[in-house]
Amino acid sequence: MGRWGWRLFEGDQDLDVVLSISDDDTLGITTGQWEYSLSAMVHQSDMLAPPEAAAVYRTAEYAHQLANVIVPYIRQKLDTNNLGERMFAACRAKESDPDDLFQEAKYRTIMIGALMMRAGARINAADLQHLRDLVPQINCTSRRTLFDDHGFRSPGRAQFLAALDHYQPGVARSFQEPSCFKCGKIEEDIGRKPLQCKKCKVATYCGKDCQRDQWREHRVSCVPPGHSRVLNV
Ligand SMILES: [Zn+2]
Ligand SMILES: [Zn+2]
Repeated sequence: MGRWGWRLFEGDQDLDVVLSISDDDTLGITTGQWEYSLSAMVHQSDMLAPPEAAAVYRTAEYAHQLANVIVPYIRQKLDTNNLGERMFAACRAKESDPDDLFQEAKYRTIMIGALMMRAGARINAADLQHLRDLVPQINCTSRRTLFDDHGFRSPGRAQFLAALDHYQPGVARSFQEPSCFKCGKIEEDIGRKPLQCKKCKVATYCGKDCQRDQWREHRVSCVPPGHSRVLNV
């Protein structure tokens, strides 16, 4: 249990999948020894982790290291010998497995896409289109559910789609900052920080229009701080 990013990939198994992609066995592609693995770009803010571990991700040193060392290193690795493209191909090849009841293979392809965008690595036009086509096929819930907790939460899906819309090779996309719960845009897209819902102080919006459009869905989870009955929603 944990989450990567502001609202992206916060299902129970998501961090495990992201971590497993870094593993040579999962995709059958030999990546060799890397100084920083793909998962080094992922804030592993597991709610069961000790506070000191989570605190590391909030330090200026980590932010600096991530932006200037880790992300450029991984981008270069993915762009060398089309490794990123080969990882996509390996993921896509597994999508047609009829036993894949929960669309895990498709979701893994989405995660590869997110990791590639996080690094600013090259993604070809066909793979970008494939990612767009996959999004509506992935389960999506507005908040955490006790059972069948797989797939996107709606703010995460919006975040992912906005990342696709703004994708540029060589530009790392942040998933770790407040994004509009409706359209998924972040500060870089709108030129200022998204606004917080005054009541719950959790949901964020690029403006009034998105907030109004999302209200019917958000109303259920709009609970003032300290009144929430469940964690990690
Ligand atoms: Zn918006
Ligand atoms: Zn709210």
